[in-house]
Amino acid sequence: MLGLYLHVPFCSSICNYCNFNRGLFDAGLKARYVAALEREILQAGRGEAVDTVYFGGGTPSLLEPSEIGRLIHSCRQAFRVDAGAEITLETNPETSSVQRMDGFREAGVNRVSFGVQSFRNDELKRLGRLHSADRAVAAAGEARTAGFGNISLDLMMWLPGQSVSDWAESVDRLIETGPDHVSLYLLELYPNAPLKEDMARAGWSLAPDEDAAEMYLSGLAALDAAGYQQYEISNVCRDGHESRHNLKYWTDGEWLGLGCGAHSTRGGKRWKNVSGTGEYVDRVVNGRPAAEDVRSMSAHERLEDALFTGLRLTDGLDIETAGERYGIDVWARYGDDLQAFVEAGVLRRDGTRIRLTREGMLVANEVMQVFV
Ligand code: SF4
Repeated sequence: MLGLYLHVPFCSSICNYCNFNRGLFDAGLKARYVAALEREILQAGRGEAVDTVYFGGGTPSLLEPSEIGRLIHSCRQAFRVDAGAEITLETNPETSSVQRMDGFREAGVNRVSFGVQSFRNDELKRLGRLHSADRAVAAAGEARTAGFGNISLDLMMWLPGQSVSDWAESVDRLIETGPDHVSLYLLELYPNAPLKEDMARAGWSLAPDEDAAEMYLSGLAALDAAGYQQYEISNVCRDGHESRHNLKYWTDGEWLGLGCGAHSTRGGKRWKNVSGTGEYVDRVVNGRPAAEDVRSMSAHERLEDALFTGLRLTDGLDIETAGERYGIDVWARYGDDLQAFVEAGVLRRDGTRIRLTREGMLVANEVMQVFV
């Protein structure tokens, strides 16, 4: 089934490492944006079956529960949203309260994903985050009180000034908080990130690469011991709480991205909506398409994409099935290069299935280069 991604580009302040499509909250623009997004949803749908809706940002939880409710209602009007659909709201801890969480739940959201990033206040401050560690713990509790049975927390590792033991402290506190799903990301410093200047000014440095590897492996080991199961390079969960929406990205699925800057992949085509919030609103309100940059993908590109993303999963992927789908013998084409990784112990080949070992996940980019 199709997944829907709805982008909400507003934030209360801008974090110094952030490279997403977002801007400062403006109440007037937000109202116009929600109306435009409703219109785009209604125009995009043809009654297709949908089983995931994902509000990403930005900070989607800055919208009022009634606005989230209107957008979900539009999705239900334009698409055939499955009764058991996963409906996720990315949420920043400082925007949470029991009342708001109740409202989001009543609006139809059934999964919340909190951007926690760290459980140490010094690290949160360095990243320009607005919440404290205690606020993040309280927010997860508020979501539980409101009845959410599917809560995800994001943590970032390899932060400026972070040691392996600082990282372990955050992981321990995360486990104590008891989420159903966890995402662990490595901080990526893009070239002009203000955080780079902050680091130079304050003398914060990144731990050596070996420490980043240790953070990744020790974090996953602690989560294993606490009963979580890794299912993707950066994601673990309990009891079948995998992100059904994100699995579409990794299993050659199809999704429609709605809102400014959102990407879509469907029917062998890929496109992106115009990035600017104001321009997006103008286009939609004036009946012009929000999409630009529409391109058809060749069978070869689609296969490469399927291989590239499928390797992110701990189950890996079946190269025979993927090859049959796109008419290419995968091992005949890439086998020589892949064999070197099998011999190095970072890739496993079990019959027609290939998958990265956990150590292999540390060098995933090198292995994936084989396909691009
Ligand atoms: S809250 Fe998220 S989207 Fe907004 S500025 Fe910070 S990192 Fe970027």
